[in-house]
Amino acid sequence: MRNTNIEQLWQCLKSGLSGNIMAGPCAVESHEQLVQVAEFLKNSGISILRAGAFKPRTLPGSFQGLGKEGVRIIHDICKQYDLISISEVMDIRDLDYMVQRIDIIQVGSRNMFNYSMLKELARVGKPILLKRGLMATLNEFINAAEYIRQGNEMIMMCERGIRSFDTATRNILDLSCVPILKQNTDFPVVVDLSHSLGRKDIMIPMAKASMAAGADMIMLEVHPEPQKALSDAKQQLSLYEFERFLENMKLQNA
Ligand code: PEP
Ligand code: MN
Repeated sequence: MRNTNIEQLWQCLKSGLSGNIMAGPCAVESHEQLVQVAEFLKNSGISILRAGAFKPRTLPGSFQGLGKEGVRIIHDICKQYDLISISEVMDIRDLDYMVQRIDIIQVGSRNMFNYSMLKELARVGKPILLKRGLMATLNEFINAAEYIRQGNEMIMMCERGIRSFDTATRNILDLSCVPILKQNTDFPVVVDLSHSLGRKDIMIPMAKASMAAGADMIMLEVHPEPQKALSDAKQQLSLYEFERFLENMKLQNA
């Protein structure tokens, strides 16, 4: 049974009441780090904080995230600052733990094809942010959402770029998928600017392009000290850069 708070949260997300930006560090690294980001988001009127506790890293020796401790930190801080939390589940065995503490469960790009996980998520009474697989066609992406929809309709579709031959950006941001998703589904569509672009210098025009294409939300990574970040240091905006970013987006809406 869905509880009314979750129903309200979903209505907020669907209607855009929760705003059109979700932001936060690639990974929660410490309580202090996340407090700084939460305070900044709160003061900027942003209501959704994203942070990874379980990190899918290419190298086994690199920082893997704080795991359950990270989930607890996200939970405590989001409660304290009245923010909506979003974090990635990497392993079905952690799902219950996360569902009890996180508002929106993220399925990362690498797990979009994990059908047993998608089936489990169909049984979860929480909104799911489903990221497009890095080599997934649009049809495969929509079909993955259908797995979740068998039991849970609270799905957000996130374009995060697909792999191609060019290395100018981290992935190729497929903005054409935004209007196509809008035509073929009634799910909110999110564009992840950080993991698609992998660079900060073209974030403003691509954010504007995403909104112009019909995206409901954009996602980006923010870190109090990006140069010291334990993951994705190159692509995370500093708080100062994020402030400039927000100013620029406001100007466009003015
Ligand atoms: C993330 O959002 O933290 C992430 C790892 O992204 P992706 O799954 O798109 O690579
Ligand atoms: Mn990241």
